[in-house]
Amino acid sequence: MEQFEGKNILNFIKELPNDATCKEYLAKYKWQDGFVCPKCCGNRGCMKKDYKYHCYTCHHVESATANTLFHKVKFGLQKAFCVVFEMTTSSKSLSSTQLAERYGVSQTSMWFFMQKVRKAMESSKKYPLSDLVHVDEFTVGGKEDGKQGRSYDSKKKKAVIAVELTNKHQVKRVYIKSIDDYFSKSLTPIFEEHISTSAKIFTDKWRGYEPLKATYDITQIESSNGKNFKKLHIIIHQIKSWLRTIPTHVSKEHIQKYFDEFCYCINRSQSKQTIWHNSIIRMIDNEPMTWKQIKQNVT
Ligand SMILES: [Zn+2]
Repeated sequence: MEQFEGKNILNFIKELPNDATCKEYLAKYKWQDGFVCPKCCGNRGCMKKDYKYHCYTCHHVESATANTLFHKVKFGLQKAFCVVFEMTTSSKSLSSTQLAERYGVSQTSMWFFMQKVRKAMESSKKYPLSDLVHVDEFTVGGKEDGKQGRSYDSKKKKAVIAVELTNKHQVKRVYIKSIDDYFSKSLTPIFEEHISTSAKIFTDKWRGYEPLKATYDITQIESSNGKNFKKLHIIIHQIKSWLRTIPTHVSKEHIQKYFDEFCYCINRSQSKQTIWHNSIIRMIDNEPMTWKQIKQNVT
């Protein structure tokens, strides 16, 4: 069973036509480096029918979905694979209502599963932005007033964005972080998690960035109503449109997951051939999540 590549849904359905083939696919990549029993750490065992692994040492039987984000998926593995396919290959955001109708499942089950996919899309934080980086803040929700810059409207959700650009000012990668306010303390995590100290960073003249100059190479320039940060403002416009197409309300507690999904897809726009397969591997590598953990936004 070969690794699936591409964005063609007909080929996708042809290669993975039912739950059994999807289970076979999951089992193949879950144990591609060999079996390790989660109970006794033994590595001797064999694959049983239904793609379950039987440990020879302690007789534990491990299913392909166990200890992955596919654990206890409510609507079968093929639908779950299709949802990951749609979320990773589409250039628009997809709502749980829309996908629930398409796959004939409840909106709640779909939302729950989509949050698990978004969990798999979180950045590994291993590859910080290291070239030319533009940083700014923006708001979403509340009444759009068309103004640039910081808004103090309490109904709006605040965020800080870092965009890495090529020498020709083309967008390479993007990270976005939800923040409570514009103080240095709130602006620091995006630098620590996503920006290298060797990056050449530009921000507007907001004083919240000043303390960060001790660690980072930051040049503060006039924003000129966004003219000096054009590409960054195009991305902000895109994320706002992305969020607007989700008909359900996105709460402040959950908005980071939507930012993660947006950045994951933007940062892989050059590798759409392998994005689905790599997302399945991330689903395998992540621990399962319960309803309670997702509702409480435990990460
Ligand atoms: Zn065992």
